[in-house]
Amino acid sequence: MAVNLEKIVSFAKRRGFIFPSSEIYGGLSASYDFGPLGMELKNNVKKAWLKSMVQNRNDVVGLDSAILMPRIVWEASGHLQSFHDPLVECKSCHHRFRADHLLEAKQAEPGYIKEEPVSIKDINCPDCEGELSAPKNFNLLMKTELGAVEGEKDEAYLRGETCQGIYLNYLNIKESMRQKIPFGIAQVGKAFRNEITTKNFIFRMREFEQMEQQYFINPNGCYNLSFDGRKIGGKPEDWMNYWREQRMNWYLNLGIKQENLRWRQHASDERAHYAKDAWDIEYNTPFGGWKEMAGVHNRGDWDLSRHGEYSKVDMTYTDQESGEKFVPWIIETSDGVDRATLMFLLDAYTEVEARSGEEDAKHNVEVVLKLHKNLAPIKIAILPLSKKEPLQKLSKEIQSRLWSKWMTQYDETGSIGKRYRRQDEIGTPYCLTVDFDSLEDKKVTVRDRDTMEQERISIDGLENYFQEKLNC
Ligand code: ATP
Repeated sequence: MAVNLEKIVSFAKRRGFIFPSSEIYGGLSASYDFGPLGMELKNNVKKAWLKSMVQNRNDVVGLDSAILMPRIVWEASGHLQSFHDPLVECKSCHHRFRADHLLEAKQAEPGYIKEEPVSIKDINCPDCEGELSAPKNFNLLMKTELGAVEGEKDEAYLRGETCQGIYLNYLNIKESMRQKIPFGIAQVGKAFRNEITTKNFIFRMREFEQMEQQYFINPNGCYNLSFDGRKIGGKPEDWMNYWREQRMNWYLNLGIKQENLRWRQHASDERAHYAKDAWDIEYNTPFGGWKEMAGVHNRGDWDLSRHGEYSKVDMTYTDQESGEKFVPWIIETSDGVDRATLMFLLDAYTEVEARSGEEDAKHNVEVVLKLHKNLAPIKIAILPLSKKEPLQKLSKEIQSRLWSKWMTQYDETGSIGKRYRRQDEIGTPYCLTVDFDSLEDKKVTVRDRDTMEQERISIDGLENYFQEKLNC
């Protein structure tokens, strides 16, 4: 793979996508701030997800639940007991690592023989070769306190996964929205985990965003019609297949290269405490190969049964037609906003030979960020050929007609070749050049990022033109 992570990290900072958080104070590890373009890109990822999961369906509704939740939620969910990673510490340098990650790395070394199982005792500290401690379980939940009076504060937790808010609202939503099974609830929001090691830029952070959808089904598998009219078997494994297909297609339709994506099923000893079956979508990263980007999980009736038991609220569903009673099972789709954003950046980052005009020929390599149009932070750049007043005036008039629908950027500095290059680098699909002829013929030149084809389009027809081209 041509791109490496260091290149993306420095590109993301230089071009206003992602900055280290609290940087002027030396930074806070694994915390990042999304700059003007990163915030647009990330919002577009979330918008695309909500559109496909909620807006374009009749059977899934949205939710925005609270981040703070009482301790009992995490007792019921099983996270206080089981949401931990195996921590090892170097006895010399005291650096901490995840034992499972060290084992994985060892097994990926050239010459490793699969038949010889490796134990953490065979591994030394990757930083100083020191001896490692035995693994200890380290809980990932982040605790906080609520209230003003010392000694009377209530313990609360920042949510470790967004889906718990969905389970707590299952009854509210079923009743207020008159939902019948099968139906889903989707939400996008922050989650917090006290990760032991935080590496690889925004791939693993302590504060991150998830896009999760929980689909409530009848475990006894009657035939159900899916939203698009296709008849699919209603067994949990049928819904797993259905949702796996939906999620993979979402990434492919947004332009991720097929060869960089694959499925991996979790082995039974690797699954989370709630999962009956679990599959990951993995991406072939330049930092250690295939890594989890998203998951589809069969959570059985674990979540609703446990919350029913701890809250003493009955979670039984009664089928209106058959009278059948059951606690719904859940098929979960779980995607990371930040990991998806990183994947879109990695996949789109392309270096090409100089192509932006003779005056810039000294640049041998140019960067084109080939983001899907729906994800591109800026859709249209408006570039007056000169800084002369009539061109500026017309360019700004054109911009103000387009910006109610699309993110635009006005740029009048530097040669036109340089300005094209700047826009290619941030993935802008269309550059619109206003020249002296525009004052007469009331037309502008529109340049396509990928084909570099140029078309003369009438100013009055621009809205229709972009409506068709951008379709978002
Ligand atoms: P990992 O094994 O990499 O720690 P996980 O299996 O714990 O991930 P899930 O609990 O299944 O992850 O979370 C669902 C999704 O949330 C992940 O597929 C990923 O996209 C995202 N995610 C999880 N942890 C983080 C994190 N620390 N930083 C950024 N995104 C994360």
